[in-house]
Amino acid sequence: MSTFRFNALKETAGRKPVVVEKLEKKSIIFGSNVFNDKSMRQFLTPDAYKAVQNAIQLGTKIDRNIAEYVAMGMKEWALNKGVTHYTHWFQPLTGTTAEKHDAFFETSFDGSDPVEKFGGSQLVQQEPDASSFPNGGIRNTFEARGYTAWDPTSPAFIYGTTLCIPTIFVSYTGEALDNKTPLLKALQAIDHAATEVAKYFDKNVKKITPTLGWEQEYFLVDRALANARPDLLATGRTLLGHTAAKGQQLDDHYFGSIPSRVLTYMRDLENECMLLGIPVKTRHNEVAPSQFELAPIFEETNLAVDHNSLLMDVMQKVAERHDYKVLFHEKPFKGVNGSGKHNNWSLATDTGVNLLSPGKTPMSNLQFLTFFINTIKAVHDYEELMRASIASASNDHRLGANEAPPAIISVFIGQQLTKVLAELEGVTKGKLSPEEKTDLKLNVVGKLPDVLLDNTDRNRTSPFAFTGNKFEFRAVGSTANCATSMTTLNAIVAKQLRDFKKEVDTLIDTKELKKDEAIFNVLREYIKQTKNILFEGDGYSEAWEKEAKKRGLSNHKTTPEALKAKVSKKAIELFEELEIMNHVEVEARYEIELEEYTKKIQIEGRVLGDIARNHVVPTAIRYQNTLIENVKGLKEIFGKEFEKIGKEQITLIKEISEHIEGINTKVEAMIEERKKANNISDAVKMAEAYCNKVKPYFEEIRYHADKLELLIDDEMWTLVKYRELLFVR
Ligand code: ADP
Ligand code: MG
Repeated sequence: MSTFRFNALKETAGRKPVVVEKLEKKSIIFGSNVFNDKSMRQFLTPDAYKAVQNAIQLGTKIDRNIAEYVAMGMKEWALNKGVTHYTHWFQPLTGTTAEKHDAFFETSFDGSDPVEKFGGSQLVQQEPDASSFPNGGIRNTFEARGYTAWDPTSPAFIYGTTLCIPTIFVSYTGEALDNKTPLLKALQAIDHAATEVAKYFDKNVKKITPTLGWEQEYFLVDRALANARPDLLATGRTLLGHTAAKGQQLDDHYFGSIPSRVLTYMRDLENECMLLGIPVKTRHNEVAPSQFELAPIFEETNLAVDHNSLLMDVMQKVAERHDYKVLFHEKPFKGVNGSGKHNNWSLATDTGVNLLSPGKTPMSNLQFLTFFINTIKAVHDYEELMRASIASASNDHRLGANEAPPAIISVFIGQQLTKVLAELEGVTKGKLSPEEKTDLKLNVVGKLPDVLLDNTDRNRTSPFAFTGNKFEFRAVGSTANCATSMTTLNAIVAKQLRDFKKEVDTLIDTKELKKDEAIFNVLREYIKQTKNILFEGDGYSEAWEKEAKKRGLSNHKTTPEALKAKVSKKAIELFEELEIMNHVEVEARYEIELEEYTKKIQIEGRVLGDIARNHVVPTAIRYQNTLIENVKGLKEIFGKEFEKIGKEQITLIKEISEHIEGINTKVEAMIEERKKANNISDAVKMAEAYCNKVKPYFEEIRYHADKLELLIDDEMWTLVKYRELLFVR
């Protein structure tokens, strides 16, 4: 009997929901481990408090002396809560988070004067040994060092007994080595550009904040079972495994009652989130068995991105207590749905207006339409860059695979808004007659609010959909750091709003149009130019692929193909113009992502080769031997008649041999292709070789292994099966 698998199964048999400590009401504990406004008021001097508030709201710098006071207050607060260590918490280009803990505790060299120390310099800047983080060649060029610097706009928090200080991570030559730095710059760019445009409608607007509400999908698998699958451990997904007889056909999991062990996990997780100030709000089952989703109340984008990164870390840690493993991979199981991370995005003014929500007056609706149409124009102009921003080896399994948005970027806006745009398209060129203005005000722009309220039609197949008061970027992968997609989206909209402002001002200055006339004129042209990107139909259909091709939209199905847009002239110009990244930083990211792609496929290839040969083939041979023994016995007893009596067994013996041969030849061929790929020095060509030459063998090898799984005695099979991974909760 296969002890590996059955021991794991036995371990799961006695599992009970872990008792979760009952905490006080959410509203009371929320943010109690965050150095938030309340704790700042309590622990900071008025000057220090004001400096941090100004940094958060106006982006002003905090000077060194003040930082000393902030550090003092922060330390006081943290020590009161039993904290012993502090760390700069950052997001290197690995896509995850990084931390290096230092103790507050210090003594002089002879052991005297033990104190708890944490000063302004420790708060503001650190030098982690940066050489082991990906840098895409940036640091080789000059200095091997990098440093982290405090981001006061994202509050410090306590996790366990460590004070975590969100920071950016940059090289000594100033290039960003992380995901946060470009994001902050993109947020600044859109703040400036959008504020200028918003001033057409309300002179009092001083600041625009992009908002983000992500929805995180994930799978929960029993820890013992996950640990018994080498592929899950090494790659985050199952590289083989026959689909379970029951999967998601009955649609009985989605929004169903949450299994009790899972529910306790979720409760525990939510408690942690409350303490950390992550405003999680909804939880439910997703479509696939053992798949779930968690979503917060939306927040300012930088904070929301930090919270998502932190959450992914916390989810895994809390899962340990409950003997679960969280699978964030976009496609951990063949044959059931994969996971995504919808990014809901909008723009909020400091006067409390959601710019993507229609208002009560014709003017506020024109404002809505302005931001709405400019967003569409931005996506139209930069669809390839949007696609590139969500490209990864794991997301390739989703995009275009008939369950997630296609690899083609399009925008869904719903019937009613389609009609509004059609009407605006008919606006007269140049000056408008008083009648036309009245008509626009009363019938087109004026009617928006009640129209939109029943705009409930939601096309789930669209990668970028307008959902009433926000856009939802649905093609983002579940493993992704939202910073990448959010940097891109905010950058392209910032650029578009800048261009829009210039065009409108030109019409006002040179054609002597009134402001609203100029706006109508520019919007009309945008509507005409961007029709290609709008699509209301079934994004999963083949017809759309054909149609999109005719329209000239890109359809990059693989990461190496999709990533190219990141380093296009247009993309580099965009990031340089907005001062978000220079070309070195853009190119470095391209290189890192290509390399990551190559490595992921390389690892998958190795692991697949190993388990196919070390688990599947030996098991197959063992079972085949028992069949051979059986046939030999039949021959002994029945003589010549054995061929008839043992017919099934003999067929099985042959079939098993064919599959073993299939595995061996395909694994050999894959290894050959890997060798060839490894000899390629050009990073692009190497990634392409892994994509087009190595990866295709995965399915072929899997085919034989999965067939064997069905043929071989269940008691002998060493790998935990799909039905066990997906249904043991
Ligand atoms: P679903 O897409 O699953 O139907 P909802 O539409 O209710 O879910 O909302 C999903 C997410 O959208 C939530 O995380 C919510 O916080 C976020 N959201 C709502 N309004 C905004 C906004 N103005 N800006 C950004 N995110 C928002
Ligand atoms: Mg959603």
